[in-house]
Amino acid sequence: MSKKILFLIADGMGDYPIAELGGLTPLAKAHTPNMDEMAAKGLVGLVRTIPPSMPPGSDVANMSLMGFDPLTHHTGRGPIEAAGLGLDTHPDDLVWRLNLVKVSAFKPGGTMLDYSGGHVPVEKARDLVADLQAHLGGDEFTFHPGVGFRNLLVQHAGKDSPEAGLNIRAPHDITDTDISPDLAEFRKSPKLWDLVLAAQKRLAGRHNDTEANAVWPWGQGGPLTLANFKEKYGLTGAVISAVDLVRGLGRAAGMQVLDVPGATAWVDTDYQGKVNAAIEFLKHGDFVFLHVEAPDECGHVGDTNLKVKAIQDFDAQVVGPLRRAMQNQDAGFMIACDHFTPISVRTHTKDPALFLLSAPGLQNSGVQAFTEDTAQKSGILIEPGHEFMPWVLSKLAV
Ligand SMILES: [Zn+2]
Repeated sequence: MSKKILFLIADGMGDYPIAELGGLTPLAKAHTPNMDEMAAKGLVGLVRTIPPSMPPGSDVANMSLMGFDPLTHHTGRGPIEAAGLGLDTHPDDLVWRLNLVKVSAFKPGGTMLDYSGGHVPVEKARDLVADLQAHLGGDEFTFHPGVGFRNLLVQHAGKDSPEAGLNIRAPHDITDTDISPDLAEFRKSPKLWDLVLAAQKRLAGRHNDTEANAVWPWGQGGPLTLANFKEKYGLTGAVISAVDLVRGLGRAAGMQVLDVPGATAWVDTDYQGKVNAAIEFLKHGDFVFLHVEAPDECGHVGDTNLKVKAIQDFDAQVVGPLRRAMQNQDAGFMIACDHFTPISVRTHTKDPALFLLSAPGLQNSGVQAFTEDTAQKSGILIEPGHEFMPWVLSKLAV
């Protein structure tokens, strides 16, 4: 029987020492007997998932971890999420992420109050996007519903248009910030400016009882194209994640995207559902990329204790059960964070991510725990990050 490979991602797990935790990081503080034992018997190290010239996004980092070079393949957030939603796009299209947002005023001097429009409920967001499409959609621009505030705008045959070069900031990066520079960017394209103004007027209508009062197109790029994972690595793979962009990467690489109904991207996510989906898939498939979002969200909200808990849950409810399920099989485990989301920073940083590699017969790095510190002291740094996957496969002799 061929080797089974499990790649488990704890999004945003990496962190800095925190005084409140006696100078430990959340990972070092957390009780993680599974990962510690695997680290002791396996290899730990660092992987540079974010190329120095790129922003530290989960899209960039997870693309690296899956073995694809973001410098070549990353065109924007919009295209990856479009792939995740299975949206049909043409190679010439320009695909935008379209947030439903709340601004103080959609004019110079206005500020971004909420990148999620008050977390617009999914059904209401669908109605709003359908209304925008009915009234403003046409041959050139079409509106497509996603999940809640996260939607898409397709600019048909726009891949090489001037709009492709506009530099609109991600709305979650500019909370309580003056939006004048972004409006100036929108204005460089008269048709896009007309569209966002018209959308704002529609959202001011009586049919809208949500807090969203404007649309915010950003993260645009040509459709995502990735080599087929099976052809590239010879492994039949699947992706398990609640997050559209990770699902999009998997789908674009021709991997199966497994649905787990209880997956929420928050600490209440259905870990058991994810674990069961992985075990079920590995009865016939070779490779599972299982992504857990919760540690990252805890980093963004700045909740130290919740982040410790999210990491403990990951160890106890994801790593542990999968280890037990695979104990009598020839299975290799990679465990990594995609990037750091330090509590003290509350957003992503470019620090190299930490990983551990565990498989029968592997030389071991002789550490006693899986922490930022042991990973750093191992002296192993894989860069660029898309070389991690081939490096691992060579270690596992796949
Ligand atoms: Zn994040």
